[in-house]
Amino acid sequence: MARDMPSIFADGFKAEPWWWQDAPLSDGPVEALPQEAEIVVVGSGYAGTCCALRLAEGGRDVLVLDADPIGFNASSRSGGQVTGGVNVGKSLAHKPVSDARRAALLSDASKALRFFEDVIARHGIDCDYHAKGRLVGFWTPAHAESWTKRIDELNAIAGSQARLVGREEAREALGSDFYWGGVAIERAGHIQPARYHAGLVRAARGSGAAFRGRTRVLSVAPAGGGFRVETERGPVAARQVVMATNAYTGAHAYGLAPDLRRGIVPVSTQMIATEEMPADLAARILPSDRGVSESRRVIAHYRKSPDGCRLLFGGRATFFPLSVPRIATLLHRAMVRRFPEMAGVRIANAWGGKVAMTMDRLPHIGGGGGRYFVAGCQGSGITMMSYLGDSLAAKILSGDDRAPVNAYDTGLPPRHPLYDGTSWFMPAIGSWYQIQDRMERRPTT
Ligand SMILES: Cc1cc2nc3c(=O)[nH]c(=O)nc-3n(C[C@H](O)[C@H](O)[C@H](O)COP(=O)(O)OP(=O)(O)OC[C@H]3O[C@@H](n4cnc5c(N)ncnc54)[C@H](O)[C@@H]3O)c2cc1C
Repeated sequence: MARDMPSIFADGFKAEPWWWQDAPLSDGPVEALPQEAEIVVVGSGYAGTCCALRLAEGGRDVLVLDADPIGFNASSRSGGQVTGGVNVGKSLAHKPVSDARRAALLSDASKALRFFEDVIARHGIDCDYHAKGRLVGFWTPAHAESWTKRIDELNAIAGSQARLVGREEAREALGSDFYWGGVAIERAGHIQPARYHAGLVRAARGSGAAFRGRTRVLSVAPAGGGFRVETERGPVAARQVVMATNAYTGAHAYGLAPDLRRGIVPVSTQMIATEEMPADLAARILPSDRGVSESRRVIAHYRKSPDGCRLLFGGRATFFPLSVPRIATLLHRAMVRRFPEMAGVRIANAWGGKVAMTMDRLPHIGGGGGRYFVAGCQGSGITMMSYLGDSLAAKILSGDDRAPVNAYDTGLPPRHPLYDGTSWFMPAIGSWYQIQDRMERRPTT
């Protein structure tokens, strides 16, 4: 960049989630590690925490362990957009799945949003929930056709309250002419994700669950009718163990859960938060306060901050391992393409995290014989991973390993014999998706 070019980075720029300013992670003194617990949950994101909450409410002695500070990974880094079923619908769009199975998957996904709303109400979690809906912007006019087919199903089964919107309505909702119309989904909104996570941890602790951050789990081995959970701070004896490690399965201890790791494709995704916009600009950008997503393959997603003064803009800016400022620059460029008026608005924060894809593009829960797992968020897990963590706890509490608790209780995600959990191919595949997106859009712009 030329020396006299104005920087796109605000004074005091931070390479960490903007959310943490409002909900700092608890990284206090590391408490002593209990020598035993009835159930050890590995992973302190939404899935692990919701699982621990329900288990503790059910009277179980639960210990949640995380290699990093509690909630440090995806669950305090997301864009904060919530829905119930829209992303599962997307996964099913091109799959040969029976009508009954589609309906079961969608119906359970819609329960995830209800679960989220119940849990924040029940535990008084103030997480700036703005139930203002979502707008999925059409990348090309042709995308309206495939969405039209999905809307009836989403409304009938998931209660999404979705409808097509024309280009004019999309422009008014967004303050941008970037899309060829879109779909408005009323059963959706956005939250402050780190405050939601902190509220869940508070609720789980209040019910008796113990949490220990900075405690990497190295291995889990059968011992004495239960398990010996080896951590870098010493062993813990447990009767049952839950892996709630999602995209970080294998990242902290490669050999910890090889069967699960081989079914998970970790993908990095990034975000920026802008500095406060001038008031007149803030009023013009995204006046509907909806969350926004796109109909292309490699989407951008964005929403305003809870106070409406900033834009939080995310997506897979690159599939290559670039530096945070370089990625932030790419995201800023993408934001300005959608909102040319924002060219002079600088970046206050930039950060990234990992989400877990699976080969069938569905999340999974399951397990038995004392070992359980929940994983595979598909990039959209605030409501889903919360709900699935809770569902897995219900399965454990029932004492019946064989009876599925919901449509996602199907055992380990599918694996490929040549895949070991290292997604070395993502730069090639991701870049190919990006090229296809560009080629699709080109004739129309
Ligand atoms: C930038 C970004 C934007 C996103 N935007 C959205 C959005 O707008 N809406 C939405 O719904 N979803 C979004 N997501 C996805 C959402 O954040 C995730 O789906 C969700 O947080 C996953 O929760 P989890 O509990 O399954 O996993 P995580 O929160 O990742 O927790 C897993 C934990 O397991 C721990 N762990 C792994 N191995 C070990 C070990 N050996 N020992 C101890 N601990 C271990 C990790 O340290 C980690 O903390 C986004 C994600 C990112 C990164």
